[in-house]
Amino acid sequence: MTNRVIIVVLGKQGAGKGTQCKRLAQSLGIPHVSTGDILRAAVRDKTPLGLEVEGILTAGGLVNDELVGRLVKERFAEADAQGGALLDGYPRNQAQATLLEEILGDDGIKLVINLEVSSEMVAERLSARRVCQECGAIYRDTDIEAISGTCEKCGGDVVQRPDDQPEAILRRLATYELDTAPLLNFYEARGLLVAVDGNQTTDEVTAAILNVVRERQLA
Ligand code: AMP
Repeated sequence: MTNRVIIVVLGKQGAGKGTQCKRLAQSLGIPHVSTGDILRAAVRDKTPLGLEVEGILTAGGLVNDELVGRLVKERFAEADAQGGALLDGYPRNQAQATLLEEILGDDGIKLVINLEVSSEMVAERLSARRVCQECGAIYRDTDIEAISGTCEKCGGDVVQRPDDQPEAILRRLATYELDTAPLLNFYEARGLLVAVDGNQTTDEVTAAILNVVRERQLA
């Protein structure tokens, strides 16, 4: 095992993974690696990858394991990820979890956070969620940036994700239960899993996660 701080954040869509990872990345000085953000940027920029996956993202389906694994491997090879990373949206199923262990080799995952939220909270958050198409900043539909359509951080367009429409939300949540939730047992058995109550305020959730990170002497 090396000292590279690889932290996986699991939780349903709308649990707050993106919001928390952005904050933790700042506090811990390691990058937020979101496979969803990487794929959305490719769709926005109409790259060959983006054109290939656009339909899958809009429908709320999963992109194939090999392709996403390659993206993660490439991202981990970049200079800013050598000290560690916060993984958001990956792994999504057992095949990806196995591949991730191969990709990481000796580095290994140091901690897996499960952000637990009620179904009511998730449905409410997802329908209110708006995102900046440029930098991925997350807003609520009542925020001034969401109303004006302009991101306060980068000036990009603030929009509703196509997969935050009701039908795609249902599909994504069903996929989570079927494919991703079983990973909780997998990581629990490895002694890596810690549950955090995601129904608290944003600040409280960040503080709770940072406590765990310090307890485990990862910061
Ligand atoms: P997210 O932002 O994590 O909700 O991801 C948005 C969409 O990107 C998902 O609904 C999938 O279509 C795709 N995606 C993100 N991460 C993965 C992954 N690990 N495996 C397969 N598809 C993914």
